Amino acid sequence: MKWNVQRVFTGETSHLTIEDAIDLSKLEFQYFHPFKEPVRVTGTVNGAGSIVILRMKMEYTFHGECSRCLKPVSFQNEIEAEHILVTSTEQESDDLVVVDQFMLDLDELVEDDIWMELPSKCLCRPDCQGLCSSCGKNLNDGPCGCSGKEADPRLAALAALLD
Ligand SMILES: [Zn+2]
Ligand SMILES: [Zn+2]
Repeated sequence: MKWNVQRVFTGETSHLTIEDAIDLSKLEFQYFHPFKEPVRVTGTVNGAGSIVILRMKMEYTFHGECSRCLKPVSFQNEIEAEHILVTSTEQESDDLVVVDQFMLDLDELVEDDIWMELPSKCLCRPDCQGLCSSCGKNLNDGPCGCSGKEADPRLAALAALLD
């Protein structure tokens, strides 16, 4: 949701507590939607002189699929982020978050922060052996019968050419 942080900017208060549940169920990562449950967000907006800082903690469960063996993968994660809030774009910087009309769009910010933390590849374990490309057996369960003898016919033809 959007949070009105005007009172911190005007100095009326120096501290605002934020508690939110962000729905990212429509967010697509690779070919699946990892966030079936809302992301829990807790944080504070603090004003110190002319600087307003948002500190927040995001908790989520990621549901995906191993990109090598297709096994379901899910894990819980907790990340923290800190952002300096400003009311105008005069100060150009990626570290600054612009709050238009004093309204902090937490949905957008949380989505961006989580996106940065997602692994580039979703694997069930770092050394996942994946599936055999000819018989489809999960090679984490042990080697399959193919063991390279029945190589892909196209590769065999190429090997013959190179011989
Ligand atoms: Zn795997
Ligand atoms: Zn095989």
